[in-house]
Amino acid sequence: MADCIFCKINDGSIPSLVVYEDERVRSIMDINPTTAGHILLISKRHAKNILDTDDADLTALTLVVKKIAPPAMQAVGADSFNLIVNNGAAAGQIIDHVHWHLIPRRIGDGLTNWPGQIGDMEELGRLAEIIRSQLA
Ligand code: 5GP
Ligand code: ZN
Repeated sequence: MADCIFCKINDGSIPSLVVYEDERVRSIMDINPTTAGHILLISKRHAKNILDTDDADLTALTLVVKKIAPPAMQAVGADSFNLIVNNGAAAGQIIDHVHWHLIPRRIGDGLTNWPGQIGDMEELGRLAEIIRSQLA
C-alpha cells in the first residue's frame, strides 16, 4: 500500500530497528515505547486489521510472540508482558496495517491495566444471547 507507514517499514524505505523477521512477520522496536522493550509485530502482507488478515498470517504473528517475548522481557528485566491489538480507530488504532504490541511489564512500572466494573448479569446474558445468535 503506497501510503502505509508499515508497508514502507517492511520494504525498508522507512528505517526501523528490526529484532526478528521471517517470511510473514517483521518485529521492530516501537519508536514511542510504552515501556522499555516495547516491540511491534507487523504482518509483512498489508491488511487493515485482524479481521482482514488471513489465518496463516495471524498464526505467524501468534507464534512470533512466543519466540520474542522471552528475550524482550529478559532485555529489560521484566517477567510479564501485555499483548495488545488496537483494532479500529475507536480502539486506538492509528496505523491501519495489522500489528500487535508486545509490551514488557514489571510490578510497579506505573502502568495501570484496564478498568473493570461489576457486571449486570441480566445485561451480560442478553449480550451473550445476541452474540450466540449471530454465530449460529
Ligand atoms: P496503533 O495505535 O496504530 O496500534 O500503534 C501504532 C504504533 O506504531 C505506535 O505505538 C507508534 O509509536 C508506532 N509507530 C508509528 N510510526 C512508527 C515508525 O515510523 N517507526 C516505528 N518503529 N514505530 C512507529
Ligand atoms: Zn501496509
